[in-house]
Amino acid sequence: MDFKTLKKTTSALMVAAILLLALGLFLDLPLLTGLALAALVAAFALERKFHRCPHCGQYLRELPTEAEKCPKCGEGLHE
Ligand SMILES: [Zn+2]
Repeated sequence: MDFKTLKKTTSALMVAAILLLALGLFLDLPLLTGLALAALVAAFALERKFHRCPHCGQYLRELPTEAEKCPKCGEGLHE
């Protein structure tokens, strides 16, 4: 998965989580609230798993998604 797909997927999961959470709380449906938490956990897990340098495996959480090079090994991130 490349960084752009990752960003889109995690953003979509976050939006879904917020909507489900709002709906779950508003309609008093614990199932929706649970789904919201699951979507949130999935977004974080994806981020954690895929937001890494393809060369050295450095976790790039602090790095902006549009960064070109890995701060650890200096290799390009979008090759
Ligand atoms: Zn690297």
